[in-house]
Amino acid sequence: MQINPGIETLAVHAGHPLDSGTDAVTPAIHLSTTFARQSDGSYQHPYDYIRCTNPGRDNLEKCLCELEGGEAAAAVASGSAATASVFLALEPGAHVVAPRDAYCGTGLLLNTVFARWHLKSTFVDMTDLNQVEKAISIPNTQLVWLETPSNPLLKISDIAAISQMAHQVGAKCVCDNTWATPILQRPFELGADLVTHSFTKYLGGHGDAMGGVVVSKVKDEFFERIRQIQVGLGIGNAPFDAWLILRGIQTLPLRIKASSEAASYIAQFLSQHPQVKRVYYPGLPEHPGAELATRQMLMNGGMVSFQVASRKEAFQVAGKLQVFTSATSLGGVKSLVEIGALMESMQNLDTSSVEAVIPDDLLRLSVGIEDVKTLIGDLEQALS
Ligand code: PLP
Repeated sequence: MQINPGIETLAVHAGHPLDSGTDAVTPAIHLSTTFARQSDGSYQHPYDYIRCTNPGRDNLEKCLCELEGGEAAAAVASGSAATASVFLALEPGAHVVAPRDAYCGTGLLLNTVFARWHLKSTFVDMTDLNQVEKAISIPNTQLVWLETPSNPLLKISDIAAISQMAHQVGAKCVCDNTWATPILQRPFELGADLVTHSFTKYLGGHGDAMGGVVVSKVKDEFFERIRQIQVGLGIGNAPFDAWLILRGIQTLPLRIKASSEAASYIAQFLSQHPQVKRVYYPGLPEHPGAELATRQMLMNGGMVSFQVASRKEAFQVAGKLQVFTSATSLGGVKSLVEIGALMESMQNLDTSSVEAVIPDDLLRLSVGIEDVKTLIGDLEQALS
């Protein structure tokens, strides 16, 4: 009888074959940079040289294909390397439509590195479909970049509607699924052509490994270009990182559900707190994307942003938190708080051309898997 595994089962088993040499249940880490040839010059296994292939990286790519429902994946050194691989696969002179409040590194890549290579980009509010349609109609639009929920304002954009618009002009639609993960959101089922992730966040999940991936719905010529970039530039995910990430993914469904559940209680708590000016969380009924999030996501995710009275107060609250650590990044088992006013400076790049939309009194919480009572208690004492 054919078993049709659920995503919780895939997270544990996909890309985890028994070790062919030893029958070890947990995959080995292969650090070898090179693999021996047979006497006729051929290879017994599909591995030759570390920049091109590695067993652990292969396992990770297979796992991502199964989790997202894609045909091909390229695991690379970071989420930003995944983003850059997609842009590099475009033709010079191509036009890209991207969200105004995507992860700031994505906008910076477009405005600096890729602008120098004649990629044109237009940044829009992706929640306004009129703006999206107008930008897509600019000649030579080859790519529409989506990030939903967006970073850090948790805007929800309509993957199905925007993919359809992109396809009408022959453009590809890419969804950065880092925040939602395949557990909460299925971009390919909604029409996206490519999915990217920063593994450094929820998929790795423990704050100890860096990586990223591009998953393609179909194994086409565009994906072959991404594979060329991965191999040619030597940006494949490193074996030890790949091993840690694959291990982290096994508990992804449990972690993402725990942090989403806790985040929804935290968002409710914050929305009733007198010191809090505004809460950004798609699970709150007053969020403009609440209805779309219900349609498009299984739960609302583990990220919550909120505004306090001033920039000074944002620093004070972050400084007083004891369980939430004030640090950049997100998606790990430990809860973190990030100060909105500091976000762009982290990139250490010219930010002058990015349309700044982050309020300086914003705090962004990455809710981990600690008990929610303790987390709310921590926020209560810090806000008091
Ligand atoms: N995409 C999103 C949504 C992110 O939040 C980040 C980092 O914060 C990235 C991509 C970049 O990931 P990395 O730091 O692994 O390059």
